[in-house]
Amino acid sequence: MSQTPYHPFGLDPEHLEFKNHFRRFVQNELAGIAEQADQEGRFPTEIYPLLREQGYLGIGFPETVGGSGGDLITASIFYEELTRASAGVSAGVFAHQHLACGPLAHFGTAEQKSTFFDPAIRGEKIGCFGLTEPDAGSDIRGMKTTARQDGDHYIINGSKLYITNGTIADFILVAARTGEARDRQGVSMFIVETSAPGFQSQLLDKIGNNSSSTALITLDNIAVSKDRLLGPEGKGLAQLKETLTDGRILVASRGLGIGQEAMELILDYAKQRKAFGQTIGKFEGVAFKVAEMAAKADAARLMIYRAARMRMAGEDGSKEASMAKLLASELAVSAATQSMLLHGGAGYMESMKVARLFRDAPEAWIGEGTNEIQLLVIAKQLGML
Ligand SMILES: Cc1cc2nc3c(=O)[nH]c(=O)nc-3n(C[C@H](O)[C@H](O)[C@H](O)COP(=O)(O)OP(=O)(O)OC[C@H]3O[C@@H](n4cnc5c(N)ncnc54)[C@H](O)[C@@H]3O)c2cc1C
Repeated sequence: MSQTPYHPFGLDPEHLEFKNHFRRFVQNELAGIAEQADQEGRFPTEIYPLLREQGYLGIGFPETVGGSGGDLITASIFYEELTRASAGVSAGVFAHQHLACGPLAHFGTAEQKSTFFDPAIRGEKIGCFGLTEPDAGSDIRGMKTTARQDGDHYIINGSKLYITNGTIADFILVAARTGEARDRQGVSMFIVETSAPGFQSQLLDKIGNNSSSTALITLDNIAVSKDRLLGPEGKGLAQLKETLTDGRILVASRGLGIGQEAMELILDYAKQRKAFGQTIGKFEGVAFKVAEMAAKADAARLMIYRAARMRMAGEDGSKEASMAKLLASELAVSAATQSMLLHGGAGYMESMKVARLFRDAPEAWIGEGTNEIQLLVIAKQLGML
Protein backbone atom coordinates (compact mmCIF):
# COMPACT_ATOMS: atom_id res chain seq x y z
CA MET A 1 0.00 0.00 0.00
CA SER A 2 1.44 3.40 -0.97
CA GLN A 3 1.85 5.88 1.85
CA THR A 4 0.65 9.49 1.79
CA PRO A 5 2.85 11.85 3.83
CA TYR A 6 1.10 13.01 6.99
CA HIS A 7 0.93 16.73 7.74
CA PRO A 8 -0.76 17.70 11.02
CA PHE A 9 -4.07 19.45 10.31
CA GLY A 10 -3.29 19.21 6.60
CA LEU A 11 -0.82 22.07 6.91
CA ASP A 12 1.87 22.58 4.27
CA PRO A 13 5.51 22.27 5.37
CA GLU A 14 5.85 26.09 5.03
CA HIS A 15 3.00 26.60 7.50
CA LEU A 16 4.60 24.23 10.00
CA GLU A 17 7.97 25.93 9.57
CA PHE A 18 6.38 29.35 10.09
CA LYS A 19 4.60 28.08 13.21
CA ASN A 20 7.84 26.77 14.73
CA HIS A 21 9.83 29.93 13.95
CA PHE A 22 7.15 32.35 15.05
CA ARG A 23 6.40 30.40 18.22
CA ARG A 24 10.08 30.57 19.25
CA PHE A 25 10.23 34.28 18.39
CA VAL A 26 7.12 35.02 20.49
CA GLN A 27 8.47 33.05 23.45
CA ASN A 28 11.97 34.53 23.29
CA GLU A 29 11.30 38.12 22.21
CA LEU A 30 7.71 39.12 22.92
CA ALA A 31 6.28 37.18 25.88
CA GLY A 32 8.28 39.05 28.55
CA ILE A 33 7.46 42.48 27.07
CA ALA A 34 3.80 41.53 26.76
CA GLU A 35 3.52 40.37 30.37
CA GLN A 36 5.13 43.56 31.66
CA ALA A 37 2.86 45.70 29.45
CA ASP A 38 -0.22 43.90 30.78
CA GLN A 39 0.80 44.78 34.34
CA GLU A 40 1.44 48.39 33.30
CA GLY A 41 -1.87 48.56 31.35
CA ARG A 42 -0.34 49.83 28.11
CA PHE A 43 0.12 48.56 24.57
CA PRO A 44 3.88 47.92 24.05
CA THR A 45 4.60 49.77 20.79
CA GLU A 46 8.24 48.64 21.14
CA ILE A 47 7.20 45.26 19.71
CA TYR A 48 6.60 46.78 16.26
CA PRO A 49 10.30 47.21 15.32
CA LEU A 50 10.89 43.63 16.52
CA LEU A 51 8.02 42.25 14.43
CA ARG A 52 9.07 44.34 11.44
CA GLU A 53 12.73 43.23 11.53
CA GLN A 54 11.63 39.61 11.20
CA GLY A 55 9.06 40.42 8.51
CA TYR A 56 6.18 39.35 10.78
CA LEU A 57 4.23 42.61 10.63
CA GLY A 58 3.50 42.14 6.93
CA ILE A 59 2.28 38.54 7.27
CA GLY A 60 -0.83 37.92 5.19
CA PHE A 61 -0.10 40.80 2.78
CA PRO A 62 1.41 40.07 -0.65
CA GLU A 63 4.96 41.19 -1.34
CA THR A 64 3.63 43.34 -4.22
CA VAL A 65 2.12 45.75 -1.64
CA GLY A 66 5.11 45.62 0.71
CA GLY A 67 3.92 42.68 2.82
CA SER A 68 5.81 39.53 3.71
CA GLY A 69 3.50 37.09 1.93
CA GLY A 70 1.79 34.16 3.60
CA ASP A 71 -1.84 33.13 3.18
CA LEU A 72 -4.82 33.26 5.54
CA ILE A 73 -3.69 30.04 7.24
CA THR A 74 -0.30 31.64 7.96
CA ALA A 75 -2.10 34.68 9.38
CA SER A 76 -4.28 32.35 11.53
CA ILE A 77 -1.16 30.67 12.91
CA PHE A 78 0.32 34.15 13.57
CA TYR A 79 -2.69 35.17 15.70
CA GLU A 80 -2.94 31.86 17.54
CA GLU A 81 0.71 32.04 18.59
CA LEU A 82 0.70 35.76 19.39
CA THR A 83 -2.42 35.38 21.53
CA ARG A 84 -0.83 32.55 23.51
CA ALA A 85 1.64 35.16 24.77
CA SER A 86 -0.90 37.95 25.21
CA ALA A 87 -4.50 38.46 24.12
CA GLY A 88 -4.17 42.21 24.73
CA VAL A 89 -1.13 42.61 22.51
CA SER A 90 -2.70 40.45 19.84
CA ALA A 91 -5.88 42.59 19.99
CA GLY A 92 -3.81 45.72 19.33
CA VAL A 93 -1.85 44.12 16.49
CA PHE A 94 -5.06 42.71 14.98
CA ALA A 95 -6.84 46.10 14.99
CA HIS A 96 -3.77 47.70 13.41
CA GLN A 97 -2.76 45.02 10.95
CA HIS A 98 -6.01 43.40 9.85
CA LEU A 99 -8.75 45.95 10.56
CA ALA A 100 -6.88 49.14 9.60
CA CYS A 101 -4.19 48.00 7.12
CA GLY A 102 -6.33 45.29 5.46
CA PRO A 103 -8.95 47.61 3.89
CA LEU A 104 -6.20 50.07 2.87
CA ALA A 105 -4.37 47.30 1.01
CA HIS A 106 -7.56 46.12 -0.70
CA PHE A 107 -9.35 49.35 -1.49
CA GLY A 108 -6.83 52.20 -1.06
CA THR A 109 -5.49 54.43 -3.84
CA ALA A 110 -1.73 54.56 -4.53
CA GLU A 111 -1.53 57.83 -2.56
CA GLN A 112 -3.51 56.41 0.40
CA LYS A 113 -1.25 53.37 0.43
CA SER A 114 1.97 55.37 0.41
CA THR A 115 0.70 57.79 3.09
CA PHE A 116 -0.92 55.27 5.45
CA PHE A 117 -0.45 51.60 4.54
CA ASP A 118 3.30 51.66 3.82
CA PRO A 119 4.35 53.30 7.11
CA ALA A 120 1.75 51.25 9.00
CA ILE A 121 3.04 47.93 7.73
CA ARG A 122 6.53 49.07 8.78
CA GLY A 123 5.10 49.79 12.26
CA GLU A 124 5.82 53.52 11.99
CA LYS A 125 2.17 54.57 12.06
CA ILE A 126 -0.54 52.87 14.11
CA GLY A 127 -4.03 52.37 12.76
CA CYS A 128 -7.42 51.65 14.29
CA PHE A 129 -10.87 50.82 12.98
CA GLY A 130 -14.07 52.61 14.00
CA LEU A 131 -17.32 50.82 13.32
CA THR A 132 -19.11 50.36 16.68
CA GLU A 133 -21.02 53.30 18.13
CA PRO A 134 -22.79 53.94 21.45
CA ASP A 135 -26.15 53.12 19.79
CA ALA A 136 -25.01 50.73 17.04
CA GLY A 137 -22.90 47.64 17.66
CA SER A 138 -24.42 44.42 16.34
CA ASP A 139 -26.87 46.54 14.35
CA ILE A 140 -24.28 48.13 12.07
CA ARG A 141 -26.86 49.76 9.83
CA GLY A 142 -28.14 51.73 12.80
CA MET A 143 -24.96 53.85 12.78
CA LYS A 144 -25.41 57.57 13.36
CA THR A 145 -22.00 58.96 12.43
CA THR A 146 -22.38 61.06 9.29
CA ALA A 147 -20.07 62.31 6.57
CA ARG A 148 -21.65 65.25 4.76
CA GLN A 149 -20.14 66.46 1.52
CA ASP A 150 -19.09 70.12 1.56
CA GLY A 151 -17.25 71.23 -1.60
CA ASP A 152 -14.16 69.07 -1.98
CA HIS A 153 -14.37 67.92 1.66
CA TYR A 154 -16.54 65.68 3.81
CA ILE A 155 -17.49 66.88 7.30
CA ILE A 156 -17.63 63.97 9.77
CA ASN A 157 -19.64 64.02 12.99
CA GLY A 158 -20.34 61.24 15.46
CA SER A 159 -18.73 58.93 18.00
CA LYS A 160 -17.20 55.46 18.01
CA LEU A 161 -17.09 53.17 21.01
CA TYR A 162 -14.71 50.42 22.25
CA ILE A 163 -12.12 51.27 19.60
CA THR A 164 -8.94 49.19 19.98
CA ASN A 165 -5.78 51.36 19.68
CA GLY A 166 -8.06 54.43 19.96
CA THR A 167 -5.64 56.37 22.19
CA ILE A 168 -2.41 55.39 20.44
CA ALA A 169 -3.39 55.41 16.77
CA ASP A 170 -2.14 57.87 14.13
CA PHE A 171 -5.14 57.25 11.92
CA ILE A 172 -8.56 55.64 12.08
CA LEU A 173 -10.69 54.04 9.39
CA VAL A 174 -14.14 55.42 10.15
CA ALA A 175 -17.43 54.02 8.89
CA ALA A 176 -19.93 56.85 8.37
CA ARG A 177 -23.29 57.38 6.76
CA THR A 178 -23.10 59.18 3.41
CA GLY A 179 -26.67 58.23 2.51
CA GLU A 180 -30.05 57.64 4.10
CA ALA A 181 -30.42 55.93 7.49
CA ARG A 182 -30.25 52.10 7.20
CA ASP A 183 -29.63 52.28 3.42
CA ARG A 184 -27.37 49.39 2.35
CA GLN A 185 -25.57 51.73 -0.06
CA GLY A 186 -25.47 54.57 2.46
CA VAL A 187 -22.24 53.77 4.36
CA SER A 188 -18.70 54.78 3.34
CA MET A 189 -15.26 54.38 4.87
CA PHE A 190 -12.91 57.30 5.51
CA ILE A 191 -9.32 57.64 6.64
CA VAL A 192 -9.08 60.22 9.41
CA GLU A 193 -5.84 61.35 11.02
CA THR A 194 -6.06 61.45 14.79
CA SER A 195 -4.22 64.79 14.78
CA ALA A 196 -7.19 66.39 12.95
CA PRO A 197 -8.95 69.22 14.83
CA GLY A 198 -12.16 67.79 16.33
CA PHE A 199 -10.75 64.31 17.06
CA GLN A 200 -10.83 63.23 20.71
CA SER A 201 -10.24 59.88 22.38
CA GLN A 202 -10.87 58.73 25.91
CA LEU A 203 -9.29 55.59 27.36
CA LEU A 204 -11.79 53.03 28.76
CA ASP A 205 -11.17 50.69 31.70
CA LYS A 206 -11.67 47.00 30.86
CA ILE A 207 -11.74 43.77 32.86
CA GLY A 208 -9.07 42.15 30.65
CA ASN A 209 -6.83 42.60 27.59
CA ASN A 210 -5.02 45.18 29.71
CA SER A 211 -2.15 45.55 27.27
CA SER A 212 -4.50 46.93 24.62
CA SER A 213 -5.90 50.45 24.46
CA THR A 214 -9.69 50.67 24.08
CA ALA A 215 -11.32 54.06 23.63
CA LEU A 216 -14.40 56.18 23.11
CA ILE A 217 -13.75 58.42 20.11
CA THR A 218 -15.50 61.67 19.34
CA LEU A 219 -15.49 63.11 15.83
CA ASP A 220 -16.61 66.73 15.98
CA ASN A 221 -16.96 68.50 12.64
CA ILE A 222 -13.83 66.87 11.23
CA ALA A 223 -13.09 68.06 7.69
CA VAL A 224 -11.42 65.44 5.49
CA SER A 225 -10.59 65.99 1.82
CA LYS A 226 -12.38 63.79 -0.74
CA ASP A 227 -9.20 61.81 -1.32
CA ARG A 228 -9.58 60.35 2.18
CA LEU A 229 -12.68 58.41 1.07
CA LEU A 230 -11.74 54.71 0.83
CA GLY A 231 -12.98 53.25 -2.46
CA PRO A 232 -16.23 54.49 -4.00
CA GLU A 233 -18.84 56.28 -1.88
CA GLY A 234 -21.57 53.95 -0.59
CA LYS A 235 -19.45 50.79 -0.71
CA GLY A 236 -18.60 50.79 3.01
CA LEU A 237 -20.81 47.82 3.95
CA ALA A 238 -19.43 45.66 1.13
CA GLN A 239 -15.87 46.56 2.22
CA LEU A 240 -16.77 45.75 5.83
CA LYS A 241 -18.11 42.32 4.89
CA GLU A 242 -14.77 41.40 3.31
CA THR A 243 -12.86 42.66 6.35
CA LEU A 244 -15.16 41.03 8.89
CA THR A 245 -15.29 37.58 7.25
CA ASP A 246 -11.51 37.10 7.20
CA GLY A 247 -11.45 38.89 10.56
CA ARG A 248 -13.74 36.25 12.08
CA ILE A 249 -11.27 33.55 11.07
CA LEU A 250 -8.44 35.49 12.71
CA VAL A 251 -10.49 36.27 15.82
CA ALA A 252 -11.30 32.55 16.02
CA SER A 253 -7.52 31.95 15.93
CA ARG A 254 -7.14 34.38 18.82
CA GLY A 255 -9.73 32.39 20.80
CA LEU A 256 -7.90 29.19 19.93
CA GLY A 257 -4.65 30.73 21.21
CA ILE A 258 -6.24 31.32 24.61
CA GLY A 259 -7.75 27.81 24.68
CA GLN A 260 -4.52 26.07 23.67
CA GLU A 261 -2.46 28.04 26.19
CA ALA A 262 -4.97 27.36 28.98
CA MET A 263 -4.86 23.65 28.15
CA GLU A 264 -1.07 23.46 28.11
CA LEU A 265 -0.75 25.41 31.37
CA ILE A 266 -2.95 22.95 33.27
CA LEU A 267 -1.37 19.95 31.53
CA ASP A 268 1.97 21.06 32.92
CA TYR A 269 0.62 21.94 36.37
CA ALA A 270 -1.35 18.71 36.72
CA LYS A 271 1.85 16.70 36.23
CA GLN A 272 3.57 18.49 39.12
CA ARG A 273 0.95 19.41 41.73
CA LYS A 274 0.35 16.68 44.27
CA ALA A 275 -2.74 15.93 46.41
CA PHE A 276 -3.64 12.76 48.33
CA GLY A 277 -0.19 11.34 47.56
CA GLN A 278 -0.28 11.63 43.77
CA THR A 279 -0.10 14.24 41.05
CA ILE A 280 -3.54 15.73 40.38
CA GLY A 281 -3.35 14.73 36.71
CA LYS A 282 -3.76 11.10 37.86
CA PHE A 283 -7.32 11.85 38.99
CA GLU A 284 -9.77 11.14 36.19
CA GLY A 285 -11.81 14.19 37.25
CA VAL A 286 -8.84 16.36 36.28
CA ALA A 287 -7.44 14.35 33.37
CA PHE A 288 -10.81 14.11 31.55
CA LYS A 289 -11.27 17.88 31.67
CA VAL A 290 -7.82 18.45 30.17
CA ALA A 291 -8.49 15.77 27.53
CA GLU A 292 -11.73 17.52 26.59
CA MET A 293 -9.92 20.86 26.23
CA ALA A 294 -7.33 19.24 23.95
CA ALA A 295 -10.05 17.66 21.77
CA LYS A 296 -11.98 20.93 21.47
CA ALA A 297 -8.83 22.91 20.65
CA ASP A 298 -7.99 20.56 17.78
CA ALA A 299 -11.60 20.72 16.53
CA ALA A 300 -11.53 24.54 16.56
CA ARG A 301 -8.20 24.51 14.72
CA LEU A 302 -9.62 22.27 11.98
CA MET A 303 -12.65 24.56 11.60
CA ILE A 304 -10.41 27.62 11.34
CA TYR A 305 -8.27 26.05 8.63
CA ARG A 306 -11.36 24.88 6.73
CA ALA A 307 -12.79 28.41 6.69
CA ALA A 308 -9.39 29.86 5.71
CA ARG A 309 -8.99 27.36 2.89
CA MET A 310 -12.45 28.23 1.53
CA ARG A 311 -11.60 31.95 1.52
CA MET A 312 -8.24 31.22 -0.11
CA ALA A 313 -10.07 29.30 -2.85
CA GLY A 314 -12.31 32.33 -3.51
CA GLU A 315 -15.43 30.86 -1.89
CA ASP A 316 -17.70 32.92 0.37
CA GLY A 317 -16.88 30.96 3.54
CA SER A 318 -18.83 33.34 5.80
CA LYS A 319 -20.89 30.53 7.41
CA GLU A 320 -17.74 28.51 8.09
CA ALA A 321 -15.91 31.60 9.44
CA SER A 322 -18.80 32.27 11.84
CA MET A 323 -18.87 28.60 12.91
CA ALA A 324 -15.13 28.68 13.65
CA LYS A 325 -15.44 31.96 15.56
CA LEU A 326 -18.40 30.65 17.58
CA LEU A 327 -16.70 27.44 18.72
CA ALA A 328 -13.19 28.85 19.17
CA SER A 329 -14.47 31.61 21.43
CA GLU A 330 -16.51 29.09 23.46
CA LEU A 331 -13.30 27.08 23.79
CA ALA A 332 -11.38 30.18 24.97
CA VAL A 333 -13.83 30.89 27.78
CA SER A 334 -14.45 27.29 28.88
CA ALA A 335 -10.76 26.25 28.76
CA ALA A 336 -9.57 29.40 30.57
CA THR A 337 -12.22 28.88 33.26
CA GLN A 338 -11.57 25.15 33.74
CA SER A 339 -7.81 25.62 33.66
CA MET A 340 -8.00 28.35 36.30
CA LEU A 341 -10.23 26.21 38.56
CA LEU A 342 -7.97 23.16 38.18
CA HIS A 343 -5.02 25.27 39.39
CA GLY A 344 -6.83 25.53 42.74
CA GLY A 345 -6.03 28.61 44.83
CA ALA A 346 -2.94 29.28 42.72
CA GLY A 347 -5.16 29.93 39.68
CA TYR A 348 -6.80 32.84 41.48
CA MET A 349 -3.47 34.60 42.02
CA GLU A 350 -2.66 37.59 39.82
CA SER A 351 0.89 36.32 39.35
CA MET A 352 -0.34 33.23 37.45
CA LYS A 353 -0.75 33.50 33.69
CA VAL A 354 -3.95 31.45 33.81
CA ALA A 355 -5.61 34.24 35.83
CA ARG A 356 -4.85 36.64 32.97
CA LEU A 357 -6.31 34.19 30.42
CA PHE A 358 -9.50 33.99 32.52
CA ARG A 359 -9.87 37.79 32.40
CA ASP A 360 -8.98 38.07 28.71
CA ALA A 361 -11.04 35.18 27.30
CA PRO A 362 -14.59 36.67 27.22
CA GLU A 363 -13.54 39.31 24.68
CA ALA A 364 -13.30 36.44 22.19
CA TRP A 365 -17.12 36.17 22.47
CA ILE A 366 -17.65 39.82 21.57
CA GLY A 367 -15.08 41.04 19.03
CA GLU A 368 -15.84 40.80 15.29
CA GLY A 369 -19.52 40.28 16.17
CA THR A 370 -20.95 38.60 19.28
CA ASN A 371 -21.69 34.91 19.23
CA GLU A 372 -25.42 35.63 18.80
CA ILE A 373 -24.49 37.45 15.59
CA GLN A 374 -22.42 34.43 14.47
CA LEU A 375 -25.49 32.21 15.13
CA LEU A 376 -27.58 34.65 13.11
CA VAL A 377 -25.18 34.37 10.13
CA ILE A 378 -25.16 30.57 10.36
CA ALA A 379 -28.95 30.26 10.77
CA LYS A 380 -29.59 32.60 7.81
CA GLN A 381 -27.30 30.54 5.60
CA LEU A 382 -29.11 27.40 6.70
CA GLY A 383 -32.24 29.08 5.32
CA MET A 384 -33.90 29.41 8.72
CA LEU A 385 -34.20 33.17 9.23
C1 LIG B 1 -12.32 44.92 24.07
C2 LIG B 1 -13.16 45.31 22.87
C3 LIG B 1 -12.53 45.82 21.73
C4 LIG B 1 -13.29 46.22 20.63
N1 LIG B 1 -12.65 46.79 19.54
C5 LIG B 1 -13.41 47.33 18.53
C6 LIG B 1 -12.77 48.04 17.46
O1 LIG B 1 -11.54 48.15 17.39
N2 LIG B 1 -13.57 48.61 16.51
C7 LIG B 1 -14.93 48.52 16.54
O2 LIG B 1 -15.58 49.06 15.68
N3 LIG B 1 -15.56 47.83 17.55
C8 LIG B 1 -14.83 47.25 18.54
N4 LIG B 1 -15.46 46.57 19.57
C9 LIG B 1 -16.91 46.53 19.61
C10 LIG B 1 -17.55 45.18 19.34
O3 LIG B 1 -17.41 44.82 18.00
C11 LIG B 1 -19.02 45.30 19.79
O4 LIG B 1 -19.03 45.47 21.20
C12 LIG B 1 -19.88 44.12 19.39
O5 LIG B 1 -20.05 44.08 17.99
C13 LIG B 1 -21.25 44.14 20.08
O6 LIG B 1 -21.88 45.37 19.93
P1 LIG B 1 -22.52 46.08 21.22
O7 LIG B 1 -21.46 46.14 22.26
O8 LIG B 1 -23.13 47.37 20.80
O9 LIG B 1 -23.61 45.10 21.73
P2 LIG B 1 -25.21 45.08 21.30
O10 LIG B 1 -25.30 45.10 19.82
O11 LIG B 1 -25.86 46.17 22.08
O12 LIG B 1 -25.63 43.69 21.84
C14 LIG B 1 -26.03 43.45 23.19
C15 LIG B 1 -26.43 41.97 23.30
O13 LIG B 1 -27.58 41.73 22.45
C16 LIG B 1 -27.26 40.66 21.58
N5 LIG B 1 -27.92 40.88 20.28
C17 LIG B 1 -27.87 42.00 19.50
N6 LIG B 1 -28.57 41.82 18.37
C18 LIG B 1 -29.05 40.53 18.40
C19 LIG B 1 -29.85 39.74 17.51
N7 LIG B 1 -30.25 40.22 16.34
N8 LIG B 1 -30.14 38.47 17.90
C20 LIG B 1 -29.72 37.97 19.09
N9 LIG B 1 -28.98 38.69 19.96
C21 LIG B 1 -28.63 39.94 19.63
C22 LIG B 1 -25.75 40.66 21.43
O14 LIG B 1 -25.25 39.40 21.02
C23 LIG B 1 -25.32 41.03 22.84
O15 LIG B 1 -25.28 39.90 23.65
C24 LIG B 1 -14.72 46.11 20.66
C25 LIG B 1 -15.33 45.56 21.79
C26 LIG B 1 -14.58 45.17 22.88
C27 LIG B 1 -15.27 44.61 24.11
